[in-house]
Formats: sequence, structure tokens, C-alpha cells
Amino acid sequence: MKHIALLGSTGSIGTQTLDVASHYPDDFQVVGLAAGSNIKKLEEQIRCFKPKMAAVWDKDKAKQLKENVSDMDIQILDGMEGLCAVAAMEEADITLTAVVGMIGIRPTIAAIQAGKDIALANKETLVTAGHIIMPLAREKGVRILPVDSEHSAIFQSLNGEDRGSIHKILLTASGGPFRGRKRKDLESIQVEDALKHPNWVMGHKITIDSATMVNKGLEVMEARWLFDVEPERIQVVVHPESVIHSMVEFEDTAVIGQLGTPDMRLPIQYALFYPDRKPLIGGARLDLFALASLHFEKPDLETFTGLKLAYEAMAQGGSMTTVFNAANERAVAKFLDRKIRFLDIPEIIGESMAVHTPVASPSVEEILSVEKTTYEFIESRW
Ligand code: NDP
Ligand code: MG
Repeated sequence: MKHIALLGSTGSIGTQTLDVASHYPDDFQVVGLAAGSNIKKLEEQIRCFKPKMAAVWDKDKAKQLKENVSDMDIQILDGMEGLCAVAAMEEADITLTAVVGMIGIRPTIAAIQAGKDIALANKETLVTAGHIIMPLAREKGVRILPVDSEHSAIFQSLNGEDRGSIHKILLTASGGPFRGRKRKDLESIQVEDALKHPNWVMGHKITIDSATMVNKGLEVMEARWLFDVEPERIQVVVHPESVIHSMVEFEDTAVIGQLGTPDMRLPIQYALFYPDRKPLIGGARLDLFALASLHFEKPDLETFTGLKLAYEAMAQGGSMTTVFNAANERAVAKFLDRKIRFLDIPEIIGESMAVHTPVASPSVEEILSVEKTTYEFIESRW
């Protein structure tokens, strides 16, 4: 029996994780849940899974939830303290991090310090603090198990292989809803257009990140930390069918990949059951004959400048990836609020990077301070 603490339980990854847990009641027990403000959904989850602890970021909502579940034996906490407490709770064996954004840094560190294995969906944490998280995980002897589908595919392709023999990582990308379009075609993009992903149903932030291809930039950064591979060895391959979830090319020219239908429950389940495989309840099997053909393209870095900026941020290193991420988080929030245009997103990232002088190996405090300065810069300009 594995005991799971789940951060971001009310979101897309969170609810799919609970779906997996509900299919395997003898294997998993959910002991902790955390969300931002959706206490209606969180209460349903609490009544269904009966965790010992739950946290809500919003303090007033946490108070309200506490009243709503006063008939139950559960501790309700709030804010960052609550998030960290759930992440590191004594009863948990594994903490699945599915909050959105770099808000996940402190709880992930708290979980690792408490010796929990991490099933990591929250890529923004590795993007900004990978240089802190990975050595800390090694020091504490905990596993960082990828949930992001591409990284799970790479992880699966590396099973039993010597990581020293990796020649290249081939990180696949669907290309998002605007694949094949040019910059001028993107000038009038509306929020509704950008939220229509061709292959995956996900939270709003990552869906916009997929449309700008910033998501792939974040994933290159994530892969670089997870697999200890230099960014130059990570090739983005646009593959519109999203069937090959990613591949590894080895020194001897062999290429090993993981294929499947697009269903996030597989990488979630793989991380939770690792190293075992179990049936994916309700999962569709890949029908190669129905597919008939697969396609591959080079990414268009002139149109999707967010991806180009990601490589630039990695080349400059240190705190520059925090600026890249923080600027994107703020720009996406503004786009979703209809305050800026679609093409302003990479523009804001680029301008924010241009005014920043990177600090090498920033501490958590420095990362959070760079985040704040980036937000202030953006507020002063847009
Ligand atoms: P969603 O927006 O669907 O869900 C986000 C979750 O985080 C919600 O439970 C939300 O709570 C919670 N949350 C937000 N802010 C806070 C906060 N301050 N404190 C506590 N909880 C908070 O996002 P996704 O599930 O799509 O994505 C989650 C992470 O997983 C992201 O990092 C994303 O990049 C990554 N990922 C997602 C994939 C997907 O298929 N969705 C695929 C691969 C990676 P509330 O509902 O109350 O707001
Ligand atoms: Mg992904």
C-alpha cells in the first residue's frame, strides 16, 4: 500500500490521479490533498477519499471548508504552510506535485526534505529550481518520478540503460493548435482559439503554453534536470499525432521510444506504481493500422519565439530560467484575462529577459526575489 499526498488535487492532473487511485484501492491510499481555492471540488474529494489532512491556499476558503467538513476527522490548513505540511506529511510515502506554477518550489523541497518520493507534474519547479531540487533529492535518497508525458516516455526508454550512453533526447511536441501558422496569422488569436488543444485536455495555463510552444521550452529545461543532459542534446521534434511520447537516441544509433494513446493517466500511474506496470483501467489501446502514418517536423522557431527564448534562457543559465518562467506565468495570466494579445506573451518574456542580469545558482530566496522583480517589471510596462 502506497500513501499519497496530492498537491493540486482539483486540477486536470489532480483529478486524473484520483481516478487512478480510485481504481486501485488496495494499492493506494490518499492521505493528503491540497488545492488553491476550489473548495467545492475539494470537499467532494475529501468525502470520497477521507484524507487525514487538506490544505487550501486561500485563507478564507480554508476557513469555509473547515466549517463544511466539521463532521469529519480531518485537519484543514491554509497558505504556504498548509501546502508544505501536506507535501511533507508523516503518513505519505509519495507526494504528487500537480499545482501549477513555481508556487510548487517550497512544498516540493519540504517533501524531499521529509524523505518522500516525488511524482512530479509541476514542471515550473524544476525549471526554476532544478539545481536545488535534483542534488537535494540525491542527498535524501528520494526518487523524482516524472509525470509529464514526454518525460515519463524518456524515463521508460531509459529503463535498464546506462545514462552515460545517451546521445540525444528526442522530445516530441504536438505543435499545438497553431502548428503550421506564421507570425502574422497569430496576431488576432483569441483566448478561445488558444484553449483548443488538438490532442490533450489540460489546465488553462499549460494549454496556452502549448499554443505558444513555451511549454516545450519548459520541458527542455525539465528534461535537462531530470536526466542530467545538456540542452544542446535535447532535440524538439514536432509530431502532430502525439503517439510517440518521446524517444532517446543512444551512442550506438539505437532509438528507443514510448508510444501510446494520449492519456495522462498512464504516466501518472507509471510514476505511482513504479517500477511495476498495471492495467490502465478504461485506457484505449494504440491501433497502428487505424493511424496508418506518423509525421515529424522541425519546430518553427521564427513563429514560436517562446521556444527560441527558452534555449537562450538556458544558455545564459542561473536565474534567467526563472525570469523566463515567471514572465511567462504573468503574461499567460494577463492573456487569459484578455489584458494582452497572444503575441505579447513571447514579447513580455523577451523584454523581461533583456533587462535581467543572471545570478548563477540562485538560492530559493533569490529565485523568489527574481520572480517578484520580474512581476514588478511587467506591471510597470503592460
Ligand atoms: P490545473 O490548472 O488544471 O490545476 C492546477 C491545480 O493547482 C488545481 O488543483 C489548483 O487548485 C491548484 N493550485 C493553483 N494554485 C495553487 C496554490 N497557490 N496553492 C495550492 N494549489 C494551487 O493545472 P494542470 O493539472 O493542467 O497542471 C498542473 C501541473 O502539471 C502544471 O505544472 C502543468 O504544467 C503540469 N502538467 C499538466 C499536464 C496536463 O495534462 N494537465 C501534462 C503535463 C504536465 P484550484 O482548482 O483550487 O484552483
Ligand atoms: Mg508534456
